[in-house]
Amino acid sequence: MTKRIFHSVFLVAISVFLAAVALFLGILYDYFSGVQQAQLKMQTGLVVQAVQNEGADYFEGLNPGSYRITWIDTDGTVRYDSHSDLDKMENHQQREEVKEALEQGVGQSSRYSRTLLERFFYCAQRLDDGTVLRLSVAQSSLLTLLLGMAQPLCVLFVVVLGLSALLASRLSKKIVKPLNELDLDHPLSNRGYDELTPLLRRLNAQQSQIRSQRDQLRQRQQEFDAVTNGMAEGLVLLNSQRVILSINPAAQRLFQTDAACVGQPILSINRSPELQELLTKAGGGRYAERVLELGSEKYQMDASPIVCEGTVSGMVLLLLDVTQKERAEQLRREFTANVSHELKTPLHTISGCAELLAGGMVQQGDAPRFAQQIYQEAQRMIRLVEDIIRLAHLDEGAADLKREQVDLYALAGEALEHLGPAAAAAQVELKLEGQPSVMEGVPQLLRGIVYNLCDNAVKYNRPGGRVLVKVEPQSQQICLTVEDTGIGIPEEHQQRIFERFYRVDKSHSKKNGGTGLGLSIVKHAARLQNAQIELQSQPGQGTVVRVVFPVQGGLEPTAK
Ligand code: ADP
Repeated sequence: MTKRIFHSVFLVAISVFLAAVALFLGILYDYFSGVQQAQLKMQTGLVVQAVQNEGADYFEGLNPGSYRITWIDTDGTVRYDSHSDLDKMENHQQREEVKEALEQGVGQSSRYSRTLLERFFYCAQRLDDGTVLRLSVAQSSLLTLLLGMAQPLCVLFVVVLGLSALLASRLSKKIVKPLNELDLDHPLSNRGYDELTPLLRRLNAQQSQIRSQRDQLRQRQQEFDAVTNGMAEGLVLLNSQRVILSINPAAQRLFQTDAACVGQPILSINRSPELQELLTKAGGGRYAERVLELGSEKYQMDASPIVCEGTVSGMVLLLLDVTQKERAEQLRREFTANVSHELKTPLHTISGCAELLAGGMVQQGDAPRFAQQIYQEAQRMIRLVEDIIRLAHLDEGAADLKREQVDLYALAGEALEHLGPAAAAAQVELKLEGQPSVMEGVPQLLRGIVYNLCDNAVKYNRPGGRVLVKVEPQSQQICLTVEDTGIGIPEEHQQRIFERFYRVDKSHSKKNGGTGLGLSIVKHAARLQNAQIELQSQPGQGTVVRVVFPVQGGLEPTAK
């Protein structure tokens, strides 16, 4: 801008100077022409005077200088000419100045001479004898004038050039200085040029508008962050080039990244084919969903395109943890398959025995044995169905069961009493140690825990073995220990025996009437009682199961 102003000012100054010089020369030229004409008239008068006094003798030896003197007769013929031969001279009667002098005494004119390529001033005066004397002189040309003044003009031009450059430079800097010093952050505080006031006002208005829009955007961003930060689901916003615009903490955890990934392509944090396929589909403007496995977890990914004016301008990626759901589904499927399988065997046996009995194909003496088998299988089915119902009830949270003060020692005594015949048959000795220990709990759940543990201790024992049940109150806890000298559980099975239908030795369990659900019931009931289970077992030596109950243990009705 400084340069442009400099050039403009400089150019204007030079133009003004040149125009002034041209005007000055024009005026000067006019003035000199007038002076020349007046001089010519005066000279003509003097020459006329001399010729009237001296006649033709006056011309002898005369040097007229730059003047040309012509004496014209009354008929127009030239009597004398200081510059040309008389023979070559035309009749001058019709020359404008001659004509005028003949009529009025004095005549003047100016003409351009094509032969001499110059302009001439003519002045003619009639003499007393009727002849005309004419003086002419070449008019000084503009070029002559200019050349005559060339030197001072050149000096002046150089001075003007320097002065113009200096002034233009100072002026341009002075004009631009207030513009450079404008405080654009506070437009209205500037006092430079009045002409800039509308622009500065506009700037100020726009800045306030931008500030308020920025505040609004910030507020929305904070609201958005507050919502997405608290989400358990992962949320990722992408632009059409699949670059991450926003990623919430849940999604950062899933992809094992941090907020620094914003601005990078999503494929830089996860290159799984499922994700690529999903994004390709969403990029085409269609909603898409896929399951993505990250480590041991499974996530359902939903990708929705953001369509603006017919084109996909971005995508929203939502990730939901479906691991638990999938596991629950898997467990439910396995449970259904197991239940069907468990029911099928006794049903087949019952059906087979009943068919033989109905067809009279059983000998008289064998009928009670068949009937006994039907009875045993039916009992087994009843136990199974009862266990399933009990487990389902625990799964639902057992909310209908009431808590009350229960003496765990008394419950253990009842269980051992109930198991007495079975233990005697298996030649297993039962023993109860401890002291009355009252705690808050649900009698049905506690009974289920104690009975199943004692039952297992008898079932998986060996003849001559021993079961020791201890109920010991501690400061804020009651500890139930069921110890046996039975077959024990190999280490690799110890983690799994609490799963539904899991048995270390299926045939052994079935032979003892086990359903494979006993320890599952114990686990669920203990969880509802906020109790901890510990298991120690040595194959061939025996098993110790310890359940630690809080005295003020609460039932968690919603726990599953
Ligand atoms: P079951 O009805 O078969 O007894 P449980 O759920 O009660 O089912 O037990 C699961 C499995 O754990 C049993 O089949 C058995 O193999 C093993 N088990 C449980 N308790 C004991 C124990 N005290 N000693 C040895 N094995 C045991």
